[in-house]
Amino acid sequence: MQSYSAISLFRHALSRHRRWPRAWRSPAPKKHYDVLIIGAGGHGLATAYYLATKHGLKDIAVLEKGYIGGGNSGRNTQVCRSNYFYPESAAFYEHSLRLYENLGLDLNFNIMLSQRGNLELSHSLEELEMNRRWATAMSLNGIDSEMLDREDIRRMFPILNMDCRFPVTGGFIQKRAGISRHDAVVWALARAASAAGADIIQGCEVSGFEASDSRIQSVQTSRGRIAAERFALCVAGHSSHLASLAGLRLPIESIALQAMVTEPIKPILHTVLGSLVIHAYISQSDRGEIVIGGGADSFNSYAQRGILPTIQNSASAVTELIPCFSRLRMMRQWAGTCDVSPDSSPIVGASPIENLYLSTGWGTGGFKAIPAGGDTLACTIANNAPHELLRPFALDRFESGRLIDEGAAAGVAH
Ligand SMILES: Cc1cc2nc3c(=O)[nH]c(=O)nc-3n(C[C@H](O)[C@H](O)[C@H](O)COP(=O)(O)OP(=O)(O)OC[C@H]3O[C@@H](n4cnc5c(N)ncnc54)[C@H](O)[C@@H]3O)c2cc1C
Repeated sequence: MQSYSAISLFRHALSRHRRWPRAWRSPAPKKHYDVLIIGAGGHGLATAYYLATKHGLKDIAVLEKGYIGGGNSGRNTQVCRSNYFYPESAAFYEHSLRLYENLGLDLNFNIMLSQRGNLELSHSLEELEMNRRWATAMSLNGIDSEMLDREDIRRMFPILNMDCRFPVTGGFIQKRAGISRHDAVVWALARAASAAGADIIQGCEVSGFEASDSRIQSVQTSRGRIAAERFALCVAGHSSHLASLAGLRLPIESIALQAMVTEPIKPILHTVLGSLVIHAYISQSDRGEIVIGGGADSFNSYAQRGILPTIQNSASAVTELIPCFSRLRMMRQWAGTCDVSPDSSPIVGASPIENLYLSTGWGTGGFKAIPAGGDTLACTIANNAPHELLRPFALDRFESGRLIDEGAAAGVAH
């Protein structure tokens, strides 16, 4: 793998940057693999990377129907945080944030992690009290959090409309939270996984499974039949559809979640700012655009588009919170197909089919989980036993009733 450094940048400048090698290989699919991962989003690629580097498995393929990161991993609003309420989620997402903190160095790729803080506003005394419990739960779980009163917030955000329809009463901040460039995360993982031996095969859609003896033997793809010993389904909003092709019914609904960006402006927003009541969360990208996390559409869909009323609601929520943004022009809007589980927590690990593993239910918040999702799923596949952090997130919690209701921490109503 070509090392990325100031020296290599200088060296390649001598040949006018014409000799950079390809970041990842583009091999033809083999007939058989040890592990076959379906979906080259962040979770599929991270699983391949950790399988190859931590567990020594080299015979791995990642099949992607489009291009890597063309799903939600390249469409999200990039927020990385571990401000979850329940101990199970707190431990999992904190592991992820810690991996993120070193990911750039580990992968020799600038993933542009900016730990600028994530501030959640409260809009009533009752919500302030709930947020105090939330921040206290985080502290009990060993995660940084700090309560802020109305004056603290006014000082931090002079542009905020403190007396909006539901006046701001305070809030809490996780200072280690922030954003990381989503494309860079996906490209960095693809490059490192490929260098470690995994075959990343783009333009290869899985359209069916062949099973016998309660095991999957192979998948049918647009590039022929490919057999493997173990399979992992990392296809986000397409999870229930693909699982049904394998004979499995998942408690997953697919919904379109929208995002949009304004024209770029000078630095004005120095943290990620969220309001569950007004229903908006925003940050400013390094290019200066205001990135607006929109709402989820109110019906199930596989469309990567989203509907107009959701755009209107998100825009009016943002301008209610920060009225001066009403003068900005919207540049782009898009949506991704999210895989939402009944308790808004992921479903990761073994499935009722012996050699099929699941990574789904990431819903509206799986970008921040990419390193931990890949690390723990790789460990589970390599050892055929659940990673300690994954035990609470097994599919069987919908039979046992041990749900982890993280609807509030999801940040998006759905
Ligand atoms: C608008 C929006 C904003 C978001 N904001 C945030 C945020 O700020 N923070 C956060 O933590 N999370 C956020 N999320 C959620 C996050 O993006 C996802 O949970 C995460 O990226 C899921 O990663 P993944 O690898 O599971 O899925 P994906 O990145 O969607 O990858 C799945 C891949 O599977 C491929 N695939 C599907 N079917 C097949 C098939 N039949 N054969 C082969 N390949 C197939 C797809 O093409 C896709 O590339 C947001 C999501 C959206 C849509």
